[in-house]
Parts: sequence; structure tokens; C-alpha cells
Amino acid sequence: MSEQWQAELAEGFGSVRELLDFLGTAVPFSAEAAERFPFRVPRAYARRMRPGDPHDPLLRQVLPRAQELASPEGFVSDPVGDRHALKVPGLLHKYRGRALLITTGACAIHCRYCFRREFPYAESQFTRQREKAALDYIARDPELGEIVLSGGDPLLLSDDRLARLTGQLAAIPHLRRLRIHSRVPLVLPSRIDERLLEVLSSHRLRTVVVIHANHPRELDGEAGGALAAMRRAGLMLLNQAVLLRRVNDSVGTLCELSECLFERGVLPYYLHLLDRVRGTAHFEVPEAEARDLHEALRRRLPGYLVPRLVREIDGQPYKLPVS
Ligand SMILES: *Cc1c(COP(=O)(O)O)cnc(C)c1O
Ligand code: SF4
Repeated sequence: MSEQWQAELAEGFGSVRELLDFLGTAVPFSAEAAERFPFRVPRAYARRMRPGDPHDPLLRQVLPRAQELASPEGFVSDPVGDRHALKVPGLLHKYRGRALLITTGACAIHCRYCFRREFPYAESQFTRQREKAALDYIARDPELGEIVLSGGDPLLLSDDRLARLTGQLAAIPHLRRLRIHSRVPLVLPSRIDERLLEVLSSHRLRTVVVIHANHPRELDGEAGGALAAMRRAGLMLLNQAVLLRRVNDSVGTLCELSECLFERGVLPYYLHLLDRVRGTAHFEVPEAEARDLHEALRRRLPGYLVPRLVREIDGQPYKLPVS
């Protein structure tokens, strides 16, 4: 049974050339980079790009470039220590009180700066066959109050799979919250349909959805409707962004991002410094500049619209504030 969103997912752009033809944009790209980390963009997202603009900040997030093939020092395969935080296949436990499930390796869109570009999904994702070990691990640790569904993108799981998983988690008495990290409400808004909302709101855990918008224009079009529907279903919405060179590295863009999020009922949560994964160096904004930007945001916005500027350092007990 194929649903609307699955059809839209399948109709997404799988070749750079096709997307550039659709946009009427001429810009160099690297087929070799696209071989290392495949290209993928849903049409609903591509419609928010500016036709003919080679510097479009949405296009920049997905365009495979020759710079990805360079590997400057300090840019590595696993910058945040995900491999050794895997306690059982599919489960990362780094921080006290919360653990994260790698529910799938699939994403609706492929972001070139992704920190899990090289994550070994095949052997390390939470599959139906491997679910017992991860659920037992969670059940054995009474300190765990929250499970984060991540990936990949957890909202690409089927409704049945999500219903089963949320049911299993809700049956663990010490869990109080469920968190979903997903870019799907923005990039494949048709996925946020009635059945999904029913699944996400029909268990006892308080549920937070952390979306991932880096630029205010990502919230345009059908994304607004998806976010409104999630709010109506009682889900709390937060945003995490990554500070990215020539995507959102200006006070104006970051202010506008916070304002647009708030208009859609989403509070800014984190602004991450780039995780230094191989192939992403051209997106990096140096820490001193990031701090200045953050200070400027503080001077312009109410405190609740200023995201926490953080950097993840392997081995630290939380995502470290940069200030
Ligand atoms: C980022 C992350 C979390 C969530 O951290 P918060 O500071 O609670 O948002 C949880 N587990 C892992 C493994 C993470 O990387
Ligand atoms: S949606 Fe998230 S996990 Fe998937 S490629 Fe983008 S940043 Fe990475």
C-alpha cells in the first residue's frame, strides 16, 4: 500500500542535473562527491529554492561540491564519538537521563554537512530484529526519562512501525518523554498526515518534535501547514539549526529564522557549531565569529527566541555552551 507521502518521496530529485534543470540554475557540482554521499531532494523542498540563483542557501545545503573531496586536518569520520556511545546496536547513550535510538538510516533529503554522513547504519541501526536488546537496555536503567528517536529520519518509518515502537516505549514505566528529531515536517510535509498524528499522540509519553530548519525560507509553503497540524495534535515543537557558512551565517538571517519559527509555534532550541565530519569543512564558521553572531542575536531578540549556541565534544556530559 503506497501512501501519498511515499509516492512523493519516490518522486524526489535523485540527480543533481535534474534539480538544476528544474531550477534553471547553472552552478558547478561534483559527481564524485555525490557518489560518496548520495544526492537526494524532495520536490516540496526544491520548490522553496530560488530559480536561477547559484547561491541559494537551500540549494547550498544539498549541492555536492568538489570541496567535499578535500579532507583538511581535524575533519574525521566520527567527530562526536557516536561509535563508542553505541551501548547496544541502535542505541546511543551519552548523557544522563536520555538515550537515542538510530531508528533508520534513511532520510528524505541528504544534507551535505550531515554529521552522520559516515555512520555505519547497516550494522548499527535499531531494527525490528534487534529491538529486544535496546528495549531491555532502556528498561534496565531507571534513570532514563526520555528517548530520542533519531536516525536517519524517524518519520520515514511506517505508521505501523512507529505505533509499535511508541507502544513499546510507553510500556516502560520510568520513561516520561519521547523526543523525535526530524527534518521531515519541512522537507516532506505530506508525511505529516492524520494517521501519523494519531500515532504520535495516542500514547502516554509527552512528545517533543525537534525540527531542523537552518534558514527561514525552509519554513515556507507546505511546511507551515505541517507544523500547524503538529501543534494542533498537541506536540511541542522545537528547532535545532547548524551554523553554516553562506547559509545562515548572518545576524539578519538568524533573527528572521527565530521570528519565522515563533510565528509557526516553534521555539529555537540549539544552534550547533558544525561537527567536523569529513567533507564538510567549507561549511564551517569559526567559533569566534559564531560567538559574535550569538552576542548580536542576544542584543536583538527576546531571550526565548535566542537559541543556545553549543558544540558537541566527544566525552563531555552535555552539549557544551559556547560563550
Ligand atoms: C544530542 C544528543 C541527545 C540530546 O541532548 P539534549 O542536550 O538533551 O538535547 C541525546 N543523546 C545523544 C546521543 C545526543 O547526541
Ligand atoms: S536529514 Fe538529518 S540525518 Fe538526514 S542527512 Fe540531513 S542532517 Fe543528516
